[in-house]
Amino acid sequence: MTHIWADDAACRDAVEGIFFSDAPTAIAEAKQICARCPVQVQCLAAEMEAEGKKRAYARFGVRGGLTPAERAAKYQAEHVGERAS
Ligand code: SF4
Repeated sequence: MTHIWADDAACRDAVEGIFFSDAPTAIAEAKQICARCPVQVQCLAAEMEAEGKKRAYARFGVRGGLTPAERAAKYQAEHVGERAS
């Protein structure tokens, strides 16, 4: 059986709502969980791979330690100069 990185996610046992809240305290708590997550690198990589394919309404939740706005900014910074074809 293949081991899936998400099986090790620190958020598996967290209160799910904190990852999808706009409340600053919830975002801070979610980020703290991400900071100690053993698969944070894999999670963020997966999110960033999908980032460019997402519409604005599909971007929500703290993932890989970043908010949707932070992921969008990271994506823009990493893809500056690229043009959509
Ligand atoms: S980095 Fe955060 S959102 Fe991603 S799996 Fe870990 S705890 Fe969950």
